Amino acid sequence: MQRSSANTVIVGGGIMGAAIAWHLTQRGAGSVRVLERASAPAAGSTGRATGGFRAQYGTAINVQLSLLALNQLTSFHDVHGVDPEYMPVGYLFMARSLETLQVLRDAQAVQHAAGYSDGYEVSPSDIRQLSPHVDASQFTGGVYAARDGYINPKALLQGLLNSAQRAGVTCSFNTSCASIEREGHRIVAVHTANERIATDRVINAAGAWAASVAAMAGVHIPVTPKRRQVAITVPTALFAPDTPMTIVADNGFHLRVRGDRVLLLQPDETPVADAFDTSVDPSWIADVRRTTNDVIPALRDVAIDAPSSWAGLYEMSPDRHLIFGATPDVSNLLLANGSSGHGVMHALAIGQLMAELVVDGAAHSLDMSSLALDRFARGQPIAGPDLL
Ligand SMILES: Cc1cc2nc3c(=O)[nH]c(=O)nc-3n(C[C@H](O)[C@H](O)[C@H](O)COP(=O)(O)OP(=O)(O)OC[C@H]3O[C@@H](n4cnc5c(N)ncnc54)[C@H](O)[C@@H]3O)c2cc1C
Repeated sequence: MQRSSANTVIVGGGIMGAAIAWHLTQRGAGSVRVLERASAPAAGSTGRATGGFRAQYGTAINVQLSLLALNQLTSFHDVHGVDPEYMPVGYLFMARSLETLQVLRDAQAVQHAAGYSDGYEVSPSDIRQLSPHVDASQFTGGVYAARDGYINPKALLQGLLNSAQRAGVTCSFNTSCASIEREGHRIVAVHTANERIATDRVINAAGAWAASVAAMAGVHIPVTPKRRQVAITVPTALFAPDTPMTIVADNGFHLRVRGDRVLLLQPDETPVADAFDTSVDPSWIADVRRTTNDVIPALRDVAIDAPSSWAGLYEMSPDRHLIFGATPDVSNLLLANGSSGHGVMHALAIGQLMAELVVDGAAHSLDMSSLALDRFARGQPIAGPDLL
């Protein structure tokens, strides 16, 4: 058994772990060790994300996290030397029913109050202009904001990992956190198969697997995996690259253009025997085909490339918001979990806030108190107009 030490051990080398590691180095937080059980970066959810970025949310805290991330996104290439491929092509949310349209309007009021004033309401004829292949006659209206758009999750992760490693972070791939050693209410070490790493703190950045890592320290966190499937079309010249993320707000169906292909997504509530299953269900592909034909008739003759389609896991929390900060029972176990499908776009902000918490004792760029783990026990989950 080897013995080593690090001021901070981060469990999970996806975008969250990488962003936190990088920000810790920028604030002089001491030695940092990232443990990633996979053999290479992006093996978890980060490598399967579709790369949407938005500040159109229904709660102020999510809007603010996006705006904080956006500051870093626009300078990412200069800082990290990697192009994050941020394309501000907008998110277009479309509503079939008046009830859904009202939810979009309510969410927009939240966004404007939280400092994101880009969003405006659109009519069916605006929808036709913004996303020309949609059958706009099905919709009563919608909302659109131009600084929302696309990013490249793998490029972001690689840029952050490169920078973190250049700044002295040790990233150990093929290395699982196997157990966590406590003395009283504090963690004193993390164990891998052949190493004991003495540490001042552990940051849980284990995505959909975060509950199992927290359990090693004797802490329950309500983070569960949820399968998210992506159908990809064969190459097509139908869509311009600046087509916005186009979303049916009533049911969550949406598309993004990536290169010469189109990614199609639609929530699937079918129960799965294994919650960590990431196979693609052929009946889901058939469902998404039907919805696509209905919403985007121009795609009827464009085949779905089923073998290239994929699935990954969202890391769900009960109120679909991040769980952030220290745990009440184990003071040096810090959480950056439960982003519920928004972790790529928010990681840059969460990294910054986590580094503030570690170095200054509190996150100060944003008030993160509403995202503490104990909000569930207190019966104060985050609530707001439901924008997916
Ligand atoms: C289909 C799909 C589309 C998505 N689209 C978007 C999007 O458009 N925009 C967006 O912002 N987000 C999106 N997401 C969500 C996004 O992928 C996640 O929120 C984000 O990747 C979470 O990052 P993470 O670093 O926490 O998790 P991960 O990238 O999963 O990293 C966690 C890592 O922890 C490692 N790990 C787990 N247990 C251990 C252990 N015991 N020891 C060592 N390592 C361990 C895993 O191997 C994994 O690599 C999407 C997700 C999916 C599946």
